[in-house]
Amino acid sequence: MENAVRYLTQYDPEVGALASAEAKRQQRTLSLIPSENYTSKAVQLALATAYANKYAEGYPYVWSDGSREDRRNGRYYRGQEYTNELERLAIRRALQLFTPDPGEYHANVQPLSGAPANLAVLSAFLKPGDTFLGLALDYGGHLTHGHGVNITGQYYNAVQYRLNDSYELDYDEIRRLAKQHAPKIIFCGATAYPLRISFRQLGAIARETGALLVADIAHICGLCVTGCHEHPFPHADIVTTTTHKLLRGPRAGLIVCKKPYGAAIDRALFPGLQGGPHMNAVAAMAVALKEAMSPDYQRYAGQVVRNAKRLSKLLQEEGFKLMGGRTDNHLLLLDVVGSAGGLGAKDGSWLAKQWETAGIVANKNTIPGDTRPWYPSGVRLGTPAITTIGMIDQDMVHVAEWIIRATRHAENETELRRIRDEIGQFMEQFAFESFYV
Ligand SMILES: *Cc1c(COP(=O)(O)O)cnc(C)c1O
Repeated sequence: MENAVRYLTQYDPEVGALASAEAKRQQRTLSLIPSENYTSKAVQLALATAYANKYAEGYPYVWSDGSREDRRNGRYYRGQEYTNELERLAIRRALQLFTPDPGEYHANVQPLSGAPANLAVLSAFLKPGDTFLGLALDYGGHLTHGHGVNITGQYYNAVQYRLNDSYELDYDEIRRLAKQHAPKIIFCGATAYPLRISFRQLGAIARETGALLVADIAHICGLCVTGCHEHPFPHADIVTTTTHKLLRGPRAGLIVCKKPYGAAIDRALFPGLQGGPHMNAVAAMAVALKEAMSPDYQRYAGQVVRNAKRLSKLLQEEGFKLMGGRTDNHLLLLDVVGSAGGLGAKDGSWLAKQWETAGIVANKNTIPGDTRPWYPSGVRLGTPAITTIGMIDQDMVHVAEWIIRATRHAENETELRRIRDEIGQFMEQFAFESFYV
């Protein structure tokens, strides 16, 4: 494969040089965006297989009378013996990873990413104008949970719930809204929520009000399948996730649901929403699902949470304000405008830009009360990527120090560049897997 990289670089020097520059950037900076991770070489290789060439519209089975017939070919084009086998393998692994009772559940491995997975679920069960409940974006929810700029907020009547004053999910409020609006679906899950989600309580609300519970675990999937967070099943009816965040696979989406919902979801995704699946991503997903069942991954998930908790404590002790007051998972949401001890910043956008000069890569994030989404008061940090390359509790001391220095000296370019050099050197000891470095 190293030869293949040389081949690309000679064949197309411009793309080759960019690929290698991006790999080096990832290797030398602190990657703290909680939705990002580093894939293994095996996942990267699976993405570069001949599966990338193949159209496989349809499924490796057909639905008849509401049950799945695995031996019938549901594809539109010929030449599918190996795509069929691969997709069945990925589905088996998804079910094995997600549920102790694979016979009662169904998996669809074809969503091109998290957003189409969510839209497929909504369009499977809702007609335009129908009501669903989702967490508001400025309270940590995702765009696809009904925000007005997203199709999910435009085609459907999306009622948005908010967190309470302590930045916690407010189950009584969700129940009240569900009773008032009678949604067909209650969406839960978040992109910027540092605390635990009680799927059990949400499941009870959904059953009381006759709604389906959809758990979008894009961020915390890796914690749910390793026992580091409550599992959405059996409380949720449908689970959607991305596979490229904590799960450490290719950029793709995955839906796992209770069996009775399988046929409608399959149809909604294809032909309802998508065309041909990206079979190379399905191959890489199968690899990542297998990795996620290993003892190594189990240790990894535990370490991600330990690192996040340690980093939270260290930052909090120096005056950073944490939304929710702590972290229970892999991410921290800082209110950088409201932080004390000389750590207060004009806004999260500016601070994230200054940090980047120091080699600290994070993202700005809205927090409740923000009125300017491009200049929000928050910054979001996560430990999935730095844990993948091997950082443990004691490394968080350095990470916290750099974050604090880069914040206190955010206007001092010389100091920021000094930090960048220190981080670059520090990163050399860790195991970043790429064919391009
Ligand atoms: C990331 C994310 C998504 C969307 O995934 P994409 O792959 O970016 O489309 C959906 N829901 C949640 C909660 C997410 O965090």
